[in-house]
Amino acid sequence: NTPLHELDPDVAAALDAELNRQQSTLEMIASENFAPVAVMEAQGSVLTNKYAEGYPGRRYYGGCEHVDVAEQIAIDRVKELFGAEYANVQPHSGASANQAALFALAQPGDTILGLDLAHGGHLTHGMRLNFSGKQFNVVAYHVDDAGLVDMAEVERLAKEHRPKVIIAGWSAYPRQLDFAEFRRIADEVEAHLWVDMAHFAGLVAAGLHPNPVEYADVVTSTTHKTLGGPRGGIILAKKAFAKKLNSSVFPGFQGGPLEHVIAAKAVSFKVAATEEFKERQQRTIDGARILAERLTAADAREAGVNVLSGGTDVHLILVDLRESELDGQQAEDRLHEVGITVNRNAVPNDPRPPMVTSGLRIGTPALATRGFTAEDFTEVADVIAETLKPTFDAAALKARVTALAEKHPLYPGLGK
Ligand code: PLP
Repeated sequence: NTPLHELDPDVAAALDAELNRQQSTLEMIASENFAPVAVMEAQGSVLTNKYAEGYPGRRYYGGCEHVDVAEQIAIDRVKELFGAEYANVQPHSGASANQAALFALAQPGDTILGLDLAHGGHLTHGMRLNFSGKQFNVVAYHVDDAGLVDMAEVERLAKEHRPKVIIAGWSAYPRQLDFAEFRRIADEVEAHLWVDMAHFAGLVAAGLHPNPVEYADVVTSTTHKTLGGPRGGIILAKKAFAKKLNSSVFPGFQGGPLEHVIAAKAVSFKVAATEEFKERQQRTIDGARILAERLTAADAREAGVNVLSGGTDVHLILVDLRESELDGQQAEDRLHEVGITVNRNAVPNDPRPPMVTSGLRIGTPALATRGFTAEDFTEVADVIAETLKPTFDAAALKARVTALAEKHPLYPGLGK
C-alpha cells in the first residue's frame, strides 16, 4: 500500500504539477471540464481491478455482482437523463462510441454524410486518415458564408449520394443544429440519422439545448466535455438498434469494460440531473455569449478579431483571426503566456495550414464549473480581447488572470 509519492516520485511530480497548472490558470479549451472529486474517487477505485466482459447479468467472468450494480445504475440514470430507450455506457471514449455506432449502422464501403472536419466536424465523421474516412465512402457538407450549416447542401448531397448514415454533430460549431430538418432529410433518402452530441450533451441534460434523442436513431456522446464526468463515451438509441449496438461495442470493438470509469459515469449522471448542474450550464452559455459580445466589440474588431457566425448558442465561440496580425498559433501562445489555455482552430476555408490556422476555439464549461459568474466572464473576455491587441501587456494581464483563478479556487484541499 505504498502511496504514489513514495512509490513513484517522478510520476507523482508530474501529477502535482498538472494539478497546480489547472488551479492557477484559466482552462478555456471547449472540450475540457473539471470532474467532481466524487467522480475521480469512483474512477480511482478498486473497480479498476475487475474483468467484466459482457453486460450486467450476462457476464463472461465470475464475481461481477457489484460491478453489475454500478453499470446498471449508470444505464438507468443516463436513459432517464436523456429520455432514451437504450443506453450503452461501455465505450472507452467518444471515438470508440462513434466507431461502434457507425459499424452498427453501416457496412464498410457504404456512403456516409457528415460535416467537413475543416468546417467543425470531428475526425470520426469521415476524416481521411480516420477509420471512418478509410473504410467508408465519405461525402461532406459544409457551413455557408454566414458560418451556419448549409441545410440546403445537406439535402442536395443526401439526394445525390443516398448515404446509409447522415451524421449531425460537431467539435467546433457555435450554433444549434436543426435536428428536425436532419430527420426529415434522412427519412426522405432512407438514411439512418446519427447525432454526435459529444460537445453539447451537458446543455441537453440541463434542458438548455434541443434533445437529439427525440429525432435520431442513434446518439453518441463523450461524458467528459460539457457533461462534466470522467473521460469516456456513451451510446443512446431507439430500442430497435439495441442488439446491433451492444454487439458492436462488445465483442465488436472492445473487450473488458472499464468498470471504474462506468461507476464514475454513473456518479456524473446523478450530478447532471441536479438543479445546480442546470444553473452551471446556464452560466456556461451566458459566459460564451459574453465572450462573443466582447470579441465583436469595436476595439476587438479594430485588432482584426471577429467571431464566426457573429455569436453563439452554446458553450464555445470560434474566433476568426484572418484579419488579425496574429495567426492561430501565435494567438494560442500569447494567451498561454498570460495563463489562459485555449486551442487554435481552423476557420472555414482557412488560408493557413492546419498546424497554424487562423482561428481559436474558446469554451466556458471548465470556468463555469469553477463558479465563474457573468461578471467574471466579462473580466475574462476583456483580458482575452486585450491579449489579442498589438499593445498587450503580458505581466498586467497575467496578474488579472491570477486574481480570477484565486477568486475561484479549484479543488480546494487538493495540492498545496
Ligand atoms: N465526437 C466529437 C463531436 C468530439 O468533439 C470528440 C472529441 O473531441 C469526440 C467525438 C471524440 O471523443 P474522444 O476524444 O473521447 O475519443
